Amino acid sequence: MNFSELGLSPQILRALDEQGYTQPTPIQAAAIPIVMTGADLLAAAQTGTGKTAGFALPVLHYLAGLGPRKGPAPRVLVLTPTRELAAQILDSVKNYGRHLPLKSAAIFGGVSMGPQHDALRRGLDILIATPGRLIDHLGQRTVDLSQIQVLILDEADRMLDMGFLPALKRVLQALPKQRQTLMFSATFSDPIKALAQQFLHNPQEVSV
Ligand code: AMP
Repeated sequence: MNFSELGLSPQILRALDEQGYTQPTPIQAAAIPIVMTGADLLAAAQTGTGKTAGFALPVLHYLAGLGPRKGPAPRVLVLTPTRELAAQILDSVKNYGRHLPLKSAAIFGGVSMGPQHDALRRGLDILIATPGRLIDHLGQRTVDLSQIQVLILDEADRMLDMGFLPALKRVLQALPKQRQTLMFSATFSDPIKALAQQFLHNPQEVSV
């Protein structure tokens, strides 16, 4: 299989070509068609499998088809446990979306809030955040999650291990009920199944 068979937009195919990607990885081949149907997804995948593109490519494709954003509020939210992962995901999203007129930003702890406020005020399509810092912005009312159409929980098992369950539940309350949710986890423990139960609606399951 190659990327063009997945039905991704030409701007995305061009970015992948420039990146030197020739074939989807197994998680990408399995996840991308499911995400493109609009279904929720529960995926078992480790780092290094290409899972980031597995969610980023179909989400970029979806946003490209929607046309311009109406206000500053983001339409896609990616939650990830650490600032390093947030920065890496932002890099990937910017790379794969380089030929699309979309804006993305990452917000995480350990740096000042000011530039993050500015980015949120200027407006963006894809927001990548660590749960703790996102809660800080929610508390200050500097982020509006009412327009989120797709939620991605990246490394969900690590987020639970790091004690982010209360933060995740608070974020969930700020999100529209009508949305698509994608959850990635390396393991499927009982707490992960419980989280999936709470966040996902009839998910398709993929394991690689
Ligand atoms: P990830 O598991 O998302 O952290 O991705 C692991 C690495 O694989 C990253 O360095 C990606 O740039 C790379 N990668 C992702 N998808 C592909 C692909 N289809 N072909 C070649 N490399 C890829």
